[in-house]
Amino acid sequence: ELAYLNGEIMPLDQARVPVEDRGYQFGDAAYEFVAAVNGRLFAVEAHLDRLERTLLALAFPPLDRNRIREAIFTLHQRAGIARAGIYIQISRGVAPRSHAFPEKTVPQVLMTVRPVPPTPPEHLTRGIAAITLADQRWGRCDIKTVQLLANVMSKQRALDSGAYDAIFIGPDGTVREGTSSNLFIRSGQRLHTHPLTTEILPGITRAVLLDICRREGIEVLERRFDRQEMLAADEVVLTGTVTEVLPVTRIDGHVIGVGRPGPMAARLRAWLEALAADPDGP
Ligand code: PMP
Repeated sequence: ELAYLNGEIMPLDQARVPVEDRGYQFGDAAYEFVAAVNGRLFAVEAHLDRLERTLLALAFPPLDRNRIREAIFTLHQRAGIARAGIYIQISRGVAPRSHAFPEKTVPQVLMTVRPVPPTPPEHLTRGIAAITLADQRWGRCDIKTVQLLANVMSKQRALDSGAYDAIFIGPDGTVREGTSSNLFIRSGQRLHTHPLTTEILPGITRAVLLDICRREGIEVLERRFDRQEMLAADEVVLTGTVTEVLPVTRIDGHVIGVGRPGPMAARLRAWLEALAADPDGP
């Protein structure tokens, strides 16, 4: 397990960030999480694109994309972990605590590489249980900042209630996404997922799956739907870099579909796995 800190690679437990890092004090930092499957990093360019969008939205100075890409690959290679997760966090820097941006901003670039635990087999054979919760996040859920308190509190509430994750519901009753994943439902032959707005994160996995579905002739509607429609769906899945494709078979105590992981979850998962293993894949 290694860390990269402003150009230097070191053992993870030796990496230190100053207490006046703005990421620590204000959540004033962007992040990304890239996965390596079978020793191959997946969709790095898409993650770099999203990181650039987040940095732009936070008015950070532009960063050298090539340097960040190089650091990701070097860290991954040096760690030699087959199923690894690279966490990347870029804070606005270190400065005496004050809300206003520091006069001279020198962003702190931190990365860590660690193994990603395998998906528990019962999650795939039985599906997971979820609860719905009102979305208490801020208005820019489309960018990836480390300000994740609403996600953290909601995930813990789900675990405390015996479920695995929480699904965010907007004030208009719209189903948005999971605490660290996007959400799709299947009704008949069609998939439905929330459109790309400021209310959800534009997931890389979501985008990759949309591409796959287009290629395979599966219709996906990017539209708003409510909790009632989700509960009545044939299948519900969560998607994400770590989540991959996770079937949800119980929501707020209601059984989804036939109560077992469905065929679409299995197909999406297999297609995603094949793409991740493809040397010519993203
Ligand atoms: N939504 C949220 C809130 C997330 O934290 C994540 C995980 N990054 C996702 C969706 C899925 O995004 P991705 O497929 O890029 O991992």
